[in-house]
Amino acid sequence: MDFSGFEFSQNALNTFRSCPKKFGYKYVQGLNWKKEGDEEYYKSLKYGTEFHLMCERYFSGIPVGKFIGNKEYEKFDQWLEKVKKAVPIYEDREYLPEYGLSIKIDEESRLTAKYDLAVIYRENGQLYIDIWDWKTENRKLKYNDLEKRMQSIVYMAVAYEAIPKIYGDGKEKVRVRMYYYQPEYYAEPIELTYSEEKFENDKIKIEGIIKEIKKSDFEDKNFRSCKYCEFNMLCNRNSVDESVYEDYEEIYE
Ligand code: SF4
Repeated sequence: MDFSGFEFSQNALNTFRSCPKKFGYKYVQGLNWKKEGDEEYYKSLKYGTEFHLMCERYFSGIPVGKFIGNKEYEKFDQWLEKVKKAVPIYEDREYLPEYGLSIKIDEESRLTAKYDLAVIYRENGQLYIDIWDWKTENRKLKYNDLEKRMQSIVYMAVAYEAIPKIYGDGKEKVRVRMYYYQPEYYAEPIELTYSEEKFENDKIKIEGIIKEIKKSDFEDKNFRSCKYCEFNMLCNRNSVDESVYEDYEEIYE
């Protein structure tokens, strides 16, 4: 495949790591399938999207309103109050909801990240970016899993390289912190910090996966991922032997 102009995201890298065949379906052939018989999954996706939209409106200064009397959504009101407390608004900080950034990986491709919220500021001359990610799934997230996630790796690496070029002279270092916030379960967010050393390691990891993708023929199948894959019917007619399945942990999502 010709990767000129291709923008690698954490989703793309994750998809390849979970199954090269799946990457082929999604990113080479451009297939966009819906998982069959999994209404709950799509309902929870929609639910999450609605909450993200509510936060985006709030941090864009658009009136948000209330969900009083709407049983399905009324906990959003409490969640948003928690978000407001977790992310106080200061006049000298920039609040950028749904903020997208990208960095050059090689001559033909880039790595992109889209943040639920980026807060950019200076404190005692030091440049900072706080990356916020809202989580609405009904499974409590743990620090150890979040630190290993491809999402954390890509989001922090992209910010570390891009922000000094946009907000500084390109040479100074930015202090990157990432906060996962799951208002259903926590009063405080889970905080991840970053360093030059982590960035160097992450860059090697990311470039390694991208190299593997570029030389792949996308024929390798990872049957351990099939159970939760939308292409299960296409690959296996939904009939993979249960014994090949492993518990699927979305640690890289
Ligand atoms: S069904 Fe299984 S083999 Fe096919 S793309 Fe999905 S994970 Fe890969």
